[in-house]
Amino acid sequence: MMTRKLPIIALATAPGRAGLGVVRISGPNLLMMTQALFQRTLIPRHANLLILRDAQGAFIDQLIAIYFAAPASFTGEDVLELQCHGGPQLLELVMKRCLELGKDQGLVIAEPGEFTLRAYLNNKIDLAQAEAIADLIDAQSEAAVLGAARSLQGAFSSDINQLIEDITQLRILVESTLDFPEEEIEFLENAQARDRLSAVIQQLHALRESAKQGRILRDGIQLVLAGAPNVGKSSLLNRLAGEDVAIVTPIAGTTRDRVKESISIDGVPMHIIDTAGLRDTNDEVELKGIERSWDAIRSADVVIFLQDAAPHDQSGDEAALLLKRQILQVLPPKCPVLEVNNKSDLVDGAFQVGPEKHPLYISAKTGEGIEDLKKAILDLVGWGGSQEGVIVARRRHLDCLDRATEHLYKSQLFAKDGNTSLELFAEELRLAQDQLGQITGKLLPDDLLGKIFTQFCIGK
Ligand code: GDP
Ligand code: ZN
Repeated sequence: MMTRKLPIIALATAPGRAGLGVVRISGPNLLMMTQALFQRTLIPRHANLLILRDAQGAFIDQLIAIYFAAPASFTGEDVLELQCHGGPQLLELVMKRCLELGKDQGLVIAEPGEFTLRAYLNNKIDLAQAEAIADLIDAQSEAAVLGAARSLQGAFSSDINQLIEDITQLRILVESTLDFPEEEIEFLENAQARDRLSAVIQQLHALRESAKQGRILRDGIQLVLAGAPNVGKSSLLNRLAGEDVAIVTPIAGTTRDRVKESISIDGVPMHIIDTAGLRDTNDEVELKGIERSWDAIRSADVVIFLQDAAPHDQSGDEAALLLKRQILQVLPPKCPVLEVNNKSDLVDGAFQVGPEKHPLYISAKTGEGIEDLKKAILDLVGWGGSQEGVIVARRRHLDCLDRATEHLYKSQLFAKDGNTSLELFAEELRLAQDQLGQITGKLLPDDLLGKIFTQFCIGK
């Protein structure tokens, strides 16, 4: 992981033509560099209208320079922001000139996420907030923007920190009684340790729910659509999308289905993998797509196995069954599976049942049952329907919250009458705390930082 101390530079705005382009420099000591660039000392946090010239004294650009002195900056180091005209060639020249004049101090081009990493390492933000910056930049919907902004403001982190604090208080209580084992039971009652633990678990549950919604907002729902040829997968995809995104043909096995489509159901992003694309092939491009589909299946949020409700030609069913078995093998644990019968318009109305009953009967052709199906999908993935107050979260956060919950459950077991062990009770509390600490970065496995920050765009 890049934890170098050299000054770094990057174009902070998107490459390409624009009104303005912002070049940002961060480093332990930038005063000399700014002096070399502009022949003067900049007052921190003032907008300075300045002229940048090349080595021969030729005019490069008139720009606004803002200097932030450490530690009062985004990264916690000295930061220089240059607001230039937004031409790609012009910005190249600005960068080149800066690199020339910063050479002695070792100025180098920043790696993706390196500014934010420095902000994190210098305690300007915690890890959940750093991730929220990336999520804010990548947000695909208004709700995702608002959710990421909330996390960036620290809403998520402060909930986590409150939980950590509550657990700390419990641990202090427990550990102070550890030396007096005969008082264990009495302690648990007097200190209301059990009640307090239950309260923490409840808060954790609420936070998990909210984070789950936030995860859906951020990543959308990964839906796998499987079934024999001709059962109507492409037609259903079209129906769900409300437009012709997939190609429907009446000849089995000849559909050139697109492997993955992204649609939106009630404002929730939904990425649908049509498994019709999973077939034997020697085509390299197609093989890559198939590998990606399997990756998506391994992290699916919900699976639909579609079948034909009407008597039909059974060729292809065997292969579909095999594929179904393969899919079931690689699905993440607890991934909900929905069996759906299509072409209800071709069967007797008596077979058709309501949304609570299974299997669900739909008709991709007439649209019958589609609303029930949408509702069933959103229910199964636990979408609460409200985007109010949601904080954007990642699978990483959910995993930590889940593991923390498990440890708290275990500590609850060690506080039971007849099975009391304050030592194990305290140990499980500590383990739960470690998991929560991983969310904000207080306690972090070594390899994780690199993984998180390399996903950032350059200049952030
Ligand atoms: P896929 O191979 O599973 O993707 O199936 P397609 O979506 O390509 O559909 C196969 C055939 O079934 C096409 O002729 C569709 O028009 C037809 N079909 C799909 N859904 C329905 C339905 O709900 N009712 C009826 N009657 N036909 C359908
Ligand atoms: Zn198809």
